[in-house]
Amino acid sequence: MLEKFRKWQYVFACIPAILGVTVLLFARGVIPFADRRAWLFLGALAAYGAVASIILFYLEKIRPKWNEYRYPVPMDKLIGTSDSPESHTGRDQHALDFVVPEGTEILAPRAGRVLEVKEDSSEGGPDPAFADKANYIIIGHDDGETTYIAHLKEGSARVWPGKVVFAGQLLAQQGSTGWTTEPHVHLAVYQDGVTIPIRFQKYP
Ligand SMILES: [Zn+2]
Repeated sequence: MLEKFRKWQYVFACIPAILGVTVLLFARGVIPFADRRAWLFLGALAAYGAVASIILFYLEKIRPKWNEYRYPVPMDKLIGTSDSPESHTGRDQHALDFVVPEGTEILAPRAGRVLEVKEDSSEGGPDPAFADKANYIIIGHDDGETTYIAHLKEGSARVWPGKVVFAGQLLAQQGSTGWTTEPHVHLAVYQDGVTIPIRFQKYP
């Protein structure tokens, strides 16, 4: 509902133009200064614009909550999180690592459609040379953001490309494929090819 309201902002943008034209009509004498209806019209328009601005401001404020993500692992298995500054650089700057025991279930952080699954690798180790040996799943979301989850156990994927998943759905199991020094799940959310900082849902 709020998203629909957002589209009306183009109508609100016309308000200054209407005000401008009315002021011009006053100045040219087309509307007499004593015309009460003209002043009522201007007052109503200004009030409408003010209310609309407040609502739009509120929409901007609450917007980030619309792309909230869940942790990609069960909370009771989580040992810690890390920004891993060594490997999370450049376009991967905002990626996050979730340290968990080997074999932990990987859960969909947000609803979407599975775009890509790689689960045929069995290789991994503490060296960048293993970077392209990681098994992973990519999920596309309805606002264009994509989630990339890596370090899946070989052959553990429970989903396939085209599959629609709900938040929290079991995707696969953790396995240290790819470049990794300790068992963890790598999570990165991309928008236009660059990682973005994400908000996480609060857990009770
Ligand atoms: Zn990572």
